[in-house]
Amino acid sequence: MFDVQVCNHEECSRLRVFNRLTCFEHSENAEELQKQIEKYLSENTKLMGLSLSRIRLKDMDLSNKEIWGCNFASSYFENVDFSGCTIIYSYFDFSQFRKCNLENTNLRNAVYAGSKIIDSSFNSSEITICNFLGTHCVNTSFNDCDLYATRFINSKLEDLQFVDCNLKRTHFSNSELKNTQFKYSNVEEAYFEGVIESK
Ligand SMILES: [Zn+2]
Repeated sequence: MFDVQVCNHEECSRLRVFNRLTCFEHSENAEELQKQIEKYLSENTKLMGLSLSRIRLKDMDLSNKEIWGCNFASSYFENVDFSGCTIIYSYFDFSQFRKCNLENTNLRNAVYAGSKIIDSSFNSSEITICNFLGTHCVNTSFNDCDLYATRFINSKLEDLQFVDCNLKRTHFSNSELKNTQFKYSNVEEAYFEGVIESK
């Protein structure tokens, strides 16, 4: 798994970032660090145990990567292509995703809790035992996905599509659903306790 040592900077409790003894904010020459991170991500197919919380990635092709045990918490992704990726035991909690492509991915035990996901697509993916607790998700599609035992508990879901999905043991409990479609999906096997639904 990723480095869980904290930043060297006095009174900072954030985790150390990739190849540094400090967090991203307290690293010297952050611009150079950003370039090193982008180069590493572009050149390597297997991304394992990376500590990359609070980074910002824009207009990047990260398709077909294997991402294992990485920490991308509180990060920002815009127009990032994750299509075809395998993402296992990795953390994207409290991150933001805008116009990202997560189609044909295999996500297992990945954490997106507290994230904001806008104008993105997860179509044709295996998204099993993943955590989307408290996620605010807008105008995003999950069509033709296997969402076995994935949790969207206490989430705010607006203009989403879950067409032709496997929803066995998928939890939507206590979520707010606005204009969300479940056509051709096995809703009877999902959990909807306390859901507030509106058009
Ligand atoms: Zn720090």
